[in-house]
Amino acid sequence: MRVAIIGAGVVGLAVADALSQHGHVVWVLEKNAQIGEETSSRNSEVVHAGLYYPADSMKARLCVEGRARLLAFCVREGVAHRTCGKLLVAAETVEMAALDALDVRARANGAEPLVPLSGVEIHRRWPELRAVAGLLSTGTAIIDSHGLMARLRQRAEAAGTHVLLRHRVQAVTRTADWNLTVTQPNGEDTGLQVDKVVNAAGLWADAVATLPGHDPLLPKQVLVKGNYFRVSGPPPADVLVYPVPSPALVGLGTHLTLDLNGNARLGPDVEPARDRHDYTVDVARLQQFLDAARRFWPNLTADRLHPAYAGIRPKLVGDGVQDFLIREGSLHGRPGWVDLLGIESPGLTASLAIGAEIAREFGR
Ligand SMILES: Cc1cc2nc3c(=O)[nH]c(=O)nc-3n(C[C@H](O)[C@H](O)[C@H](O)COP(=O)(O)OP(=O)(O)OC[C@H]3O[C@@H](n4cnc5c(N)ncnc54)[C@H](O)[C@@H]3O)c2cc1C
Repeated sequence: MRVAIIGAGVVGLAVADALSQHGHVVWVLEKNAQIGEETSSRNSEVVHAGLYYPADSMKARLCVEGRARLLAFCVREGVAHRTCGKLLVAAETVEMAALDALDVRARANGAEPLVPLSGVEIHRRWPELRAVAGLLSTGTAIIDSHGLMARLRQRAEAAGTHVLLRHRVQAVTRTADWNLTVTQPNGEDTGLQVDKVVNAAGLWADAVATLPGHDPLLPKQVLVKGNYFRVSGPPPADVLVYPVPSPALVGLGTHLTLDLNGNARLGPDVEPARDRHDYTVDVARLQQFLDAARRFWPNLTADRLHPAYAGIRPKLVGDGVQDFLIREGSLHGRPGWVDLLGIESPGLTASLAIGAEIAREFGR
């Protein structure tokens, strides 16, 4: 089968790897000059354990499956990662019910069991931290997302995939094939005919979904920015530290993560994005970050925080917690066209599971 994948973020590359290993002939079309320049390089690089999402959701299923696939892939393919663990903290007694609810949800999702810790135990293990209680997720990891994407690309290319950078998909028509009009680096348009198309365009996936024509079933997407501040000096713990999440799960709460070099950062927070390029971090948000972090790290001082970077979440609008949407087009008159919509967190964790899902769908 000839397949075009629109977008070379971690999800597009994972789909390309999975399809090319199944013998499909794959083109990955990416408008930017490098792979993974958008959301895939503007996140926390956390391999989530699958604690947060409703048990019947695609996010829960693909996160748990994706984590297992991803960690095995990292070991097999030599991608840098560390299973550092993550501590969820209740800063006040009133938040303990939320910890209990997370514990129940984690079990329902088939995530690895969480270890309950008292406030005293937390303070004994990590003297700089304060909490009334916590849950330790020993299965949460951090990963080199750039190393992951580079390896997925190498594997896909070795299996015959063409990764075409600075190739923007501009227009789509349907005859017996899907006909893509693609603008090349020299500014000239060229055509590509394929049997199947995977729209893995991230923040642009809603726009790409309308290229074949008006789409009355397309859910509305909003853009929600997440800012990060770098923390200079030694981190307060060797685990990631998360507050209890907000009930609507817009974000997971401003948390402390570590990179593979042991550097700490705080974020992401939640701010409406002006557009898909709105990546500047407003230094005026520093006080909010400080207040959020001091709930579990009281001795943190403002001079240690420095604006770092931002990422943007493509959120589907609806009631309550929103799920990923993997939409196969035959259900609405577009056979062979698959939209990947609302692929926000835990999309990095779930990427290989999404790739496997599409490969199952397309067969050989
Ligand atoms: C603040 C933040 C923190 C996060 N933290 C985590 C985390 O810790 N763990 C986790 O599991 N997930 C996390 N995520 C989610 C994760 O980063 C994303 O789900 C994932 O990176 C999405 O990958 P993608 O390939 O779908 O999209 P992208 O990486 O955005 O890739 C889409 C690509 O499509 C290309 N494209 C768009 N339109 C066209 C076109 N017309 N023609 C050609 N190319 C096109 C774009 O240029 C882009 O490169 C986080 C997300 C955010 C915003």
